[in-house]
Amino acid sequence: MTDRKAEIAANLAKVEERIASACAAAGRKREEVTLIVVTKTYPADDVRLLSELGVRHVAENRDQDAAPKAAACTDLPLTWHFVGQLQTNKVRSVVGYADVVQSVDRPKLVSALSAAAVRADRELDCLIQVALDADEGGRGERGGVAPDGIEELAGLVADAPGLRIGGLMTVAPLAGPFADRQQAAFERLVEFSTLLRAAHPAANMVSAGMSSDLEQAVAAGATHVRVGTAVLGVRPRLR
Ligand SMILES: *Cc1c(COP(=O)(O)O)cnc(C)c1O
Repeated sequence: MTDRKAEIAANLAKVEERIASACAAAGRKREEVTLIVVTKTYPADDVRLLSELGVRHVAENRDQDAAPKAAACTDLPLTWHFVGQLQTNKVRSVVGYADVVQSVDRPKLVSALSAAAVRADRELDCLIQVALDADEGGRGERGGVAPDGIEELAGLVADAPGLRIGGLMTVAPLAGPFADRQQAAFERLVEFSTLLRAAHPAANMVSAGMSSDLEQAVAAGATHVRVGTAVLGVRPRLR
């Protein structure tokens, strides 16, 4: 095994242990939580190593980096998640490799994704990104729709050809009433998920938790955690 593969394997084992103990502490089955490794800023070679080590879900947040990386990994049995702020002029490219777009946060994006998915003859799972700290009718600084916009967006996705409504995603707010209260934030997201599933029963994905707060996410009921640093190492700044 190369040094890098051994390093990633050791990190993966630690993250796996953290997820397993968080599940045990919450009385949840380990299979209820899916690990998504966020590979942004890391090369396609690392994606390949992850795949060899059994990882099945990876995530990227910038199309410029993600598109060539995904193109270099088409032989791998991976599900690609797009988790970054998405401009409509990048949608066609993203739909070429992404299986799940977790950052749907405005109607214009829904129509662009739908048109691109139909054109590419693909079915795309979409999560609504929720900005728990955004004002009513607004959006978050790092993307996401305010909670009062979830229902409308979910309805648009559900009705859009080529798209499926998969659930909700959030990033724990750094400011506002949920600052430093990750578990409360994630519990709120799970409440919104329960409301969403009343109208869209299949939309059962709850994507929450990163390297620093995956335990809180698992405790709150997340079905997907998105972990970068803890698996691949600290990213270079300024990306
Ligand atoms: C980078 C990123 C992550 C992973 O963050 P880490 O702290 O490196 O685990 C998760 N979600 C989103 C949306 C990200 O952009």
